[in-house]
Amino acid sequence: MVAENIKSVRDRIQTACRAAGRDPAEVTLICVSKTKPVSLIREAYDAGERAFGENKVQEIQDKYLGLPSDVQWHMIGHLQRNKVRHVIDKAVLIHSVDSLRLAQEIEAEAAKKGLRVSILLEVNVAGEDSKYGLTVEEAPKLAQDVSMMPHLSLKGLMTIAPFVDDPEKNREIFRRLKELSVDIQSKSIDNISMDILSMGMTNDYEVAISEGATMVRIGTGIFGERQYL
Ligand SMILES: *Cc1c(COP(=O)(O)O)cnc(C)c1O
Repeated sequence: MVAENIKSVRDRIQTACRAAGRDPAEVTLICVSKTKPVSLIREAYDAGERAFGENKVQEIQDKYLGLPSDVQWHMIGHLQRNKVRHVIDKAVLIHSVDSLRLAQEIEAEAAKKGLRVSILLEVNVAGEDSKYGLTVEEAPKLAQDVSMMPHLSLKGLMTIAPFVDDPEKNREIFRRLKELSVDIQSKSIDNISMDILSMGMTNDYEVAISEGATMVRIGTGIFGERQYL
C-alpha cells in the first residue's frame, strides 16, 4: 500500500510541477513517518524514498539504527533545547528553528561536536495561536542573527498551514512565505541562503508547489491515518 501511495503522490507532484512550469527535480518529497513503525518506513525506502520527517527527537533516535544509513532524517517538529544535542548529528535538516535561544543552543552544541547544522526558520504565517513559529516580522532579524553563527547554515523557511477543507484557502499563506524568502534574500545577508521553502502537506501540497515549495512534507497521503495513543 505504501508503494502505491508513493507512486500516486509522486505522480501528483509531477503534474503540479508541470502545471506550474517547474522541474519536478526541484521538489523534494519528505515522507512524514511520525508514529509509524520502521517496517512501513522500510516499505517506502524500498520504493526508492530516502527523505523522512519526524517531529520528535526520540522517534529519530529509536528509528535511525533500524534503517540504512543513507536515510535522510528531517526534524520537522518543535525542538526543545535540551534535546538539541541528540538530534544535530542525526538530522540532515532542522525545519523548526523558531527562536534565537534555540538557534544559540544548536550553535553551541554544533560547535562542541564540530558540526555545521543546516536549518530552516519556521514561520507561523497564518498567525495561529496553537502553532509554534516566528511571526513574519521577526524572521528577517533572526536570519541576520543566525548568519553570524559559524556552525549554523540557514537554508530557507518552513511553514505549517492551517488544516482547511479547501486547499486553495492556504494559497495566500504559501505565497506570503515565498515573498518573505525573497525579501530576506534581497538583503544579501552573508552565509545564508533562501533556497528551500518547506511547505505543503497531504491536503495542500499541490497548491504549495504552485506557489514555489521546494520541499513537501507528506504523512497521511503515504502512510495512512495516524493513531495517537
Ligand atoms: C505531521 C506533519 C506533517 C504531515 O502531515 P500530513 O497531513 O499527514 O501529510 C507535515 N509537517 C509537519 C510539521 C507535521 O508535523
